[in-house]
Amino acid sequence: MRDGFGRTIDYLRISVIDKCNLRCNYCMPVEGFEWIPRAELLSFEEIAAIVRELVGMGLRRVRITGGEPLIRKDLPVLVALLREIDGVEEISLSTNGILLPRFATDLRLAGVDRVNISLDTLRRDRFEAIARRPERVFDEIMAGVEAAERAGFAPIKINTVLLRGLNDDEVPQFAELTRSRPWHVRFIEMMPVGENLHLADRFIGADEVLERLGSLAELLPDAGPRGNGPARYFRFPGAVGSVGVITPLSHNYCDSCNRMRLTADGRLRTCLFGSHEADLKTPLRAAGTVRAAVERALQQKPQRHMLINGSDSGSGGLGALSQIGG
Ligand code: SAM
Ligand code: SF4
Repeated sequence: MRDGFGRTIDYLRISVIDKCNLRCNYCMPVEGFEWIPRAELLSFEEIAAIVRELVGMGLRRVRITGGEPLIRKDLPVLVALLREIDGVEEISLSTNGILLPRFATDLRLAGVDRVNISLDTLRRDRFEAIARRPERVFDEIMAGVEAAERAGFAPIKINTVLLRGLNDDEVPQFAELTRSRPWHVRFIEMMPVGENLHLADRFIGADEVLERLGSLAELLPDAGPRGNGPARYFRFPGAVGSVGVITPLSHNYCDSCNRMRLTADGRLRTCLFGSHEADLKTPLRAAGTVRAAVERALQQKPQRHMLINGSDSGSGGLGALSQIGG
């Protein structure tokens, strides 16, 4: 698949639900959010039908995300359906980890290749201020990371959104972990959306993070783990894992964008922050094909996003990343 700017699009992020069992302060509000009605969600068969058609057009890799994807009932069933599609080269999952102790093995057996786990703090006493859930949930997440390792997932990528004054002093602790554990910790710049503008002062750019990492030890550029994300990776000499930065604001990577996103109710978003969405559910249900809608949407994929910290003018109307899965 090629978009109107000649970029090859071969990666789809699939949001399977917009609900979540956390309320990360930079991601979604504690309450008052409207959920997609159950009847509007794509069924697993419908998601698989869309992926099958997209694979015929050039799709190679998919990532399952949310909200929190593991609260969608029977998620391993979807994974198994996607695994059966010839041409799907990789299935990955983004999760907050809470439910991994229950599902890691089933997900692995069903065919998930890799997991990314979001972890914004290593300190139990800070968890509630960021995730707005009780401290005991932090223990469940740490058990989730271990369950993923036990189930054989490798590499494990850890996603950390840094917020000044809340968790940014933990950069050294996260980085130190990569010396002895095969973790790939990626510090993500907070993206401004309608629901988190009050946190704009806490934004930390990747250059500052890299400076802090560089003051800890020599920082060697690194190829990073498998996967084709936009992260830039580095490694401390002798470390088994790596540290990375994802820089949607300070250095956008739109020129090499290879992705599209599917919402849980069947809208295709060709840019995370573009206002254009294509309804795939209606043509799928009416005619059993989405090809024409996808081709049109690809031509409308914007050249780049226009995000600026402190403003939601560039967010394309996105209220929260939980609505689309990051
Ligand atoms: N619930 C899953 C999780 O937390 O991994 C999947 C969905 S979550 C929206 C996907 C990723 O987006 C997480 O790593 C999260 O930290 C990140 N994220 C959410 N809101 C963000 C924001 N405003 N800026 C940057 N990253 C954000
Ligand atoms: Fe939920 Fe993930 Fe958003 Fe946190 S980042 S509120 S875990 S969807």
